[in-house]
Amino acid sequence: MGLNNNTFPLATPTPLIDGFARRIDYIRVSVTDRCDFRCQYCMSEQVHFLPKADLLTLEELERLCAAFILRGVKKIRLTGGEPLVRRGVMNLFHGLSRFVDDGALRELTLTTNGSQLKRFAAELAGCGVKRVNVSLDTLDADKFRSITRWGALPAVLQGIDAAQAAGLRVKINCVALRGVNDDDFSGLAQWAHGRGMELTFIEAMPLGEDAAGNIEHFLPLGEVAVRLSEKLTLTPSSHSSGGPARYFDVAETGGRIGFITPLSHNFCESCNRVRITCTGELYTCLGQEDRTDLRAPLRGALTQKKRGHDFVAQQHGTLAPHARPMSMTGG
Ligand code: SAM
Repeated sequence: MGLNNNTFPLATPTPLIDGFARRIDYIRVSVTDRCDFRCQYCMSEQVHFLPKADLLTLEELERLCAAFILRGVKKIRLTGGEPLVRRGVMNLFHGLSRFVDDGALRELTLTTNGSQLKRFAAELAGCGVKRVNVSLDTLDADKFRSITRWGALPAVLQGIDAAQAAGLRVKINCVALRGVNDDDFSGLAQWAHGRGMELTFIEAMPLGEDAAGNIEHFLPLGEVAVRLSEKLTLTPSSHSSGGPARYFDVAETGGRIGFITPLSHNFCESCNRVRITCTGELYTCLGQEDRTDLRAPLRGALTQKKRGHDFVAQQHGTLAPHARPMSMTGG
């Protein structure tokens, strides 16, 4: 009997299932630690960025993503830092777009501050990106500058225009901060919904150099809902994006508001994602320190291969001993 691929199909790769039987089919990949904003709750102004050699190259990022896709990952979100400030990042989007084309990936998307969207929106759409998350905490230009330190609101608004013109769906993500941007959440909702965009509020997490500041400004989203309800009618929605957000429909706008509450209401039981840093470390949880280095195996142990062994024939004819027996390594 002749052999062909049908006789011996390639083994189907096993899906990624964690120790709590949660299926992992979503990866968030940071492509750079750099950003053109310095959001107060995220980065210090004097942040030191990693040396370039520590970052995965775009080719390595693509290979890593491909390996995860092979293990059943269906959704990839590129993030950062600001993903669109990484030079050549569109090559990565183009590379990954073939997995969208052949159906292996259900979704290729990104989270961005929007500053570079005007430049890249059309090309992103051409790479099979259907929607983008844009982080925008306020529509007040002065406040925007103060929160982001370096950001300019008009550039972000132009980026959003460009994204919508390119046919991308836009979701606005707003970190709720007590005493900072808590004066006009309903205005943000009306603006977003008026433009056909979803809006999601996120609780500030105690991460980064100014974790203390985030704790000081922490605003539980229950309070945000109460404030929104003073002007808008919110009804719990059965909508689910497969992620951690809980949704409410807004009667006045016909739009939807999501709430992501990592602190006040943890949603870990339905977690389906892991994160990969721009240096190739796999974090299985945003809030835990356990991580696995994927860069070394990706770069290949072969680069460590020595020119030769260092068995040393000693003067009396014996060899300096190695503890590892041949039976362990293989003869
Ligand atoms: N530069 C991109 C952007 O601005 O969306 C992607 C990276 S940024 C780290 C991703 C998201 O994390 C943004 O929506 C940002 O507001 C949010 N973020 C950053 N630090 C946070 C924190 N300590 N708590 C909650 N959200 C945070």
